[in-house]
Amino acid sequence: MPGFELFGNAERNQVNDVLNNGVLMRYGFDGMRNGHWKSKELEIELQKTLKTSFVQLVSSGTAAVSVALAAAGIGSGDEVIMPTFTFVASFEAIMMVGAVPVLVDIDDTLGLDPLAVKAAMTSKTKAVMVVQMCGSMANMDALNKLCKENNVLLIEDACQAIGGSYNNKPLGSLGDLGCFSFDFVKTITCGEGGAVVTNNKDYYINSDHYTDHGHDHIGTDRGAESHPFLGYNFRMSELHAAVGLAQVKRLPEFLAIQKHNYTVLRTALSQIPELKFRTVPNGGEESYAFLNFFLPDLECARKASIALKEAGIDGCFHYYDNNWHYIRKWEHLKEMKSLYPISKELKEGLAYLQRADFSQSDHYIGRNISCLIKLCWTVDELNLRAKKMVEVIKGSI
Ligand SMILES: *Cc1c(COP(=O)(O)O)cnc(C)c1O
Repeated sequence: MPGFELFGNAERNQVNDVLNNGVLMRYGFDGMRNGHWKSKELEIELQKTLKTSFVQLVSSGTAAVSVALAAAGIGSGDEVIMPTFTFVASFEAIMMVGAVPVLVDIDDTLGLDPLAVKAAMTSKTKAVMVVQMCGSMANMDALNKLCKENNVLLIEDACQAIGGSYNNKPLGSLGDLGCFSFDFVKTITCGEGGAVVTNNKDYYINSDHYTDHGHDHIGTDRGAESHPFLGYNFRMSELHAAVGLAQVKRLPEFLAIQKHNYTVLRTALSQIPELKFRTVPNGGEESYAFLNFFLPDLECARKASIALKEAGIDGCFHYYDNNWHYIRKWEHLKEMKSLYPISKELKEGLAYLQRADFSQSDHYIGRNISCLIKLCWTVDELNLRAKKMVEVIKGSI
């Protein structure tokens, strides 16, 4: 998945262009910048790639999810439904705006289970945050329908799925707001960065202002701009945008390599009858950033995960035992270990985590192995990897 593997002249030239000109900030300095607007250029490029009307760059994927919630007016008194399998940023963002994260089970897509979402809806539910994990997607038709019926917003975290699509629409463009990360390990990277995408002009304007202290960005005198509402600083720098601009233009190249490498591994693993690939909903096309499969039970998956490491096959994750991506290891959330006092409302809202039953999620994550697809493998490395993976997994069943 990581675009950093193929850094080259395109990235260097873009960064040098910014340094040679000398303006590292995306706003202001109009006289000095000699027509250099890397952030704006990257936003336009992303609009084309993601087929959405508006794109707001932000400083990270975590910022993107936080800004999306704020832009949609979600906060204190609201509940946001999110999956048990995601990245910690999901609940961090929801809690940042003062809303309560309501964690629910995933299904064999490794995304939100629509039935679990339905069961978790209350009069306080304001949004469903679907997270398109590991290059693929949840059952988007069912989730979209459910959100529409209940008048609830759909926020799509596509940080791990740029380049994937559903019924020919890019992942990230399917909800009311979509979120992307360009951190160092994502398919396209600019070091640290992210984007909020939407077709809703109000959400876009809110995002534009909120990410820059509430500045209205009217006129050419930054000091004279007014603040229609409170904001924060989630800006991206021109240096970061420059790297992103080079990378986004290379997305088709990265996706083609991912698809090829994924297909070689998948074809090899298809010989193992006990191994089942993750379900991709009808109409869905993965980004091929990861290859995901299920083994018969938790013990097999644990054994395979250890054996793969011992055989030198890196980048295969068993998320059941992982601290970053699965509820099982989020003690800091369950015990609400906050540096500062958290609101009574949030404390009460999170109490359910002490007794929640996520055995359905355990059933999928316990058996899942998720393999990162790299861009730089040579033909020989890829073929050897495929052969070794088949041997190791057969030996673990
Ligand atoms: C990476 C990631 C994020 C956060 O992105 P950062 O840029 O690292 O803050 C959020 N959600 C998912 C699913 C991610 O994979």
